[in-house]
Amino acid sequence: MRCKEKKGITNIALVAHDNKKDDMVKWANVHKDILAKYKLFCTGTTGILLENKVGLKITKLQSGPLGGDLQIGAYISERKIDLLIFFWDPLEAQPHDPDIKALLRIAVVWNIPIACNKATANFIITSKLMSEKYSYDEPDYQTYKNRNIQKA
Ligand code: PGA
Repeated sequence: MRCKEKKGITNIALVAHDNKKDDMVKWANVHKDILAKYKLFCTGTTGILLENKVGLKITKLQSGPLGGDLQIGAYISERKIDLLIFFWDPLEAQPHDPDIKALLRIAVVWNIPIACNKATANFIITSKLMSEKYSYDEPDYQTYKNRNIQKA
């Protein structure tokens, strides 16, 4: 992988499934002052809650089941999201399960930090790497893009 110096985190995406929305609001309230320093992107309903109940300024995308997870995934593939906080619900099936998998997959493809529960989110949001420059392994997919797809 190519090593690149990253300026630190600028844009954060936050998503919470319905049974996790209370947790997200409580977590965001605790870390409100830190979160307010960043540009925040949310799926629709999560965004409305974080605006109304926490007072954060949010760029709201579509609701998750209507394409919001995919919009965030697209931003990640464009390198526009630096961190994903995604409180997904492990105990309830979601109608947009393929979109959730796609979002989690693309976040791994582009090696961005992902927090899927409060404990991990606490570690990440209080990390000194949030504000410092850090060396970041930017994936280099050139070999993949140049792969030989000709059939024998
Ligand atoms: P929502 O979407 O914030 O619009 O509820 C979250 C999700 O289910 O992905």
